[in-house]
Amino acid sequence: MTQKTVIRGKVRVVPAAAHIRSHGNGHRKPAVKWVYRFDEVDAAEKYAKCWDGVRALLGGKGANLAEMTRVGLPVPPGFTVTTEACNIYLAAGNNFPPGMWEQELDALRHIEKMTGKKFGDPANPLLVSCRSGAKFSMPGMMDTVLNIGLNDETAAGLIALTQDARFVYDLYRRLVQMYGTVVMCIADEPFEEVLADYRARREVANDADLSIEDLGTITGEFKKIVREQAGREFPTDPFEQLKLATEAVFHSWNGKRAFDYRKAAGIPHNLGTAVNIVTMVFGNMGEGSGTGVATTRNVSTGEKEIEGDYLTNAQGEDVVAGTRATKPIAALKDEMPKPWAQFERICKKLEKHYREVQDVEFTVERGKLWMLQTRDAKRTAQAAVRIAVDLAEEKLITKEEAVKRVCPEHVDFFLHPQFDPAQKKTADLIAKGLNVSPGAAVGMIVFDADTAESWAKQEKKDVIMVRPETKPDDVHGMIAAKGILTSRGGRTSHAALVARQFGKPAVVGVAAMDVDVEKRLFTVNGRAFKEGDWVSLDGTTGEVFAGQLKSVIPDFNDPYLIKLLSWADKIRKLGVWANADYPRDAERARMYGAEGIGLCRTEHMFFETNRLPFVQQMILAKTDEERVEPLAKLLPFQRSDFDGLFRAMDGLPVTIRLIDPPLHEFLPSHDELLHDVTELETRLKLRDGDPLGFDPLSLTGILAQKKKLLAAVESMREANPMLGLRGVRLGIHLPELVKMQVRAIFEAACQCAKEGVDVHPKIMIPLTAHKNELKVEQTMLEEEAKTVMAEQGIEVDYQFGTMIEIPRAALTADQIAEYAQFFSYGTNDLTQTTFGISRDDAETGFLLEYLEKSILPENPFATIDERGVGKLMELGVKLGRQTRPDLEIGVCGEHGGDPKSIALCHKIGLNYVSCSPFRIPIARLAAAHAAIGEFEKDL
Ligand code: ADP
Ligand code: MG
Ligand code: MG
Repeated sequence: MTQKTVIRGKVRVVPAAAHIRSHGNGHRKPAVKWVYRFDEVDAAEKYAKCWDGVRALLGGKGANLAEMTRVGLPVPPGFTVTTEACNIYLAAGNNFPPGMWEQELDALRHIEKMTGKKFGDPANPLLVSCRSGAKFSMPGMMDTVLNIGLNDETAAGLIALTQDARFVYDLYRRLVQMYGTVVMCIADEPFEEVLADYRARREVANDADLSIEDLGTITGEFKKIVREQAGREFPTDPFEQLKLATEAVFHSWNGKRAFDYRKAAGIPHNLGTAVNIVTMVFGNMGEGSGTGVATTRNVSTGEKEIEGDYLTNAQGEDVVAGTRATKPIAALKDEMPKPWAQFERICKKLEKHYREVQDVEFTVERGKLWMLQTRDAKRTAQAAVRIAVDLAEEKLITKEEAVKRVCPEHVDFFLHPQFDPAQKKTADLIAKGLNVSPGAAVGMIVFDADTAESWAKQEKKDVIMVRPETKPDDVHGMIAAKGILTSRGGRTSHAALVARQFGKPAVVGVAAMDVDVEKRLFTVNGRAFKEGDWVSLDGTTGEVFAGQLKSVIPDFNDPYLIKLLSWADKIRKLGVWANADYPRDAERARMYGAEGIGLCRTEHMFFETNRLPFVQQMILAKTDEERVEPLAKLLPFQRSDFDGLFRAMDGLPVTIRLIDPPLHEFLPSHDELLHDVTELETRLKLRDGDPLGFDPLSLTGILAQKKKLLAAVESMREANPMLGLRGVRLGIHLPELVKMQVRAIFEAACQCAKEGVDVHPKIMIPLTAHKNELKVEQTMLEEEAKTVMAEQGIEVDYQFGTMIEIPRAALTADQIAEYAQFFSYGTNDLTQTTFGISRDDAETGFLLEYLEKSILPENPFATIDERGVGKLMELGVKLGRQTRPDLEIGVCGEHGGDPKSIALCHKIGLNYVSCSPFRIPIARLAAAHAAIGEFEKDL
């Protein structure tokens, strides 16, 4: 015989035997167990199979109350109505499942036995609370009802028993108010108005200071509010109170607040909530009583100290309501030394038991401590790291577990300045864009790179560079700026890439913003901001604020983070290298733990103002001879660039990619030149009538120069520059250029080697699609390398390899590996060429639409598309190693710093990931997570 039950929204079939309880009278009646007393956690575990199942069945609050009961902590007797009961109740049109209410009454009778009190009995009334509790904590989903069981008769009985009318009236008025709002859905305001009115009339600050008579009258007035607003009386029957409260908690699962919360937090809608009925304990029985909340450690800093607040003579939500000034938990030590000592012991015990920092609620009733709730505590990034390390060192968890508990976002926090969250709440938010590079930046608005640089360097001002979008020749301004703000562009736009590379906070693609570089202002929602105005950017959230917000720079020297990452290093199998173009980036990368340079982009070096003229001269040269001079000028520049890198990375590999982008990127834009030429021509035509009389000769000269440039740009124009003359194709087209680069690399390497630096250059040829491309270019360059080493009279360790960023290269990796001694996946281009989506335009246009409509589950430019691009990569690994078993393979695209992509790289057997220096610590952690994940699957 089988029986259907609903668990987590799914109907599953379970053997009925699991639900059969003997009823003692000989015949066995199948009955589903809907109610578990706190002392029945063993039964719940048996049914649910695992602790996670217990939490799903009893909710987090119920499961932990039961667990605390099991380990002997002082928890008031109580029981939990299961989430399964809730789901059935809701599915069955608001009807309790058969037997549930009877089981609730059974459990209640059990509590009566344990406490010696009786529910609804004026002689010694039992009062209970009714509390919601889902599998995942959902703060604010549903309020609790305390003091259930009070009516005029039981209240009178309790007064006789306690001789404390003030206490009883305080309970009673709380019950009517909570019951009215939570169960009868009346707004809180009318109740609060009555209280405020009495406080004003009696000139007291706290409800607790009102007279006994007033509290009594207030209860009466509350009942009147219920009658008027709900159209029925406050129920005087305690059992009806309990029943309706149970139903109200069930209903709260489908309330709008709860629904919205689940949606935002990604919690499934079919879990249901449990209902916890707990014997009331009273923190409002005078000064020897109190109630509080605490975390077992400081969850802001992670320090090992109990942190929290409490109030004497208070009940329930008083502590969090903020109506009375709370006391720091440390004061409890003096006020109630005995309960404090016990509380300290319990906190330790809970941490040990749960192997995690806890967030607890407690009440002291006339010197007796009661625990009312415990759960894993939420914490800041800083605390998360310190707590994980401390718990491992206290041997509560393993080092592996500690590494697992810290997430990439936590580590990210340590690398970027952050705004003060309190200040942000009241700040003047002007717009939101894409949060492409985390951290906080404050500065004055500037609209071009030169101004940014001069304001920052000469005038020592903090600036934010604002552009519609950025280009390679804006880089010096971007480096000088504190942050970058653009109205266009996506996550892999130039602005975003450069910003991440240099750890500059950036917000891009702020569609609401209109940037007018000419007028030197931007407008947003009807407000104008001009050059020199202050703005603050939060690159972590994509928010843009007017004015100057305060920011704090976290320290990367955090000893806990350093320790945790050293544990991660022992676990991970992937190497973590850096994308670094300059020696100072390399130094930073090394400080963050980089084990090599996986990508040095040589073209960045060509954009520097003192070199660009030679680059342009080289490009415009018609013959090889004309090219000799500018190349000779560039050689020493390149040599010194590489020299610095080799020294910074002494002992570690340095992968240098030969020139990659289409040449037109080094020349002024076609439109710009055309505009200049037309303008100059008009001016020349007007010359006769021009009273100022410009010097025609120089104008003509400039015009001729511009025309020559325009012709060159026109001749180089390609319909799809991204699919044009670039990468290895460019090297084959202009062999002297790449030969110069290789010469510079080897001259620098040999010189460093002579001085005792341990150099390992790896020359990387971009955009290969066919092995013959390597055959031509690599063979030629290897010759050049040998020539230089012969000239220098010293041999260095080196390799030639290629990027795999065209599907054909991955598909023919076995052939490519005949030449290439290493592979590096250029996942940005590989994604672009695999999808046939241009990453430069897509992210603000249709790709966004695709993501919004869930046509693509994820942005493939942020996380490697496992099914497509990932498959090509996997194939490339397999084929490449067929030819060359020890082939070293890495990734050097933007994905190298993305945790999910890192997991994929681990899975397909890459040797390393290479990412921006500021992602190195994150990649170290993510690589360890990937390795732990694999380990778990092996078990
Ligand atoms: P929340 O999830 O919003 O914290 P709770 O169900 O934990 O709601 O209860 C709200 C407040 O009431 C807490 O301060 C809790 O400690 C207190 N409380 C709940 N049940 C009892 C009880 N049986 N005795 C005393 N205080 C209680
Ligand atoms: Mg609580
Ligand atoms: Mg590329």
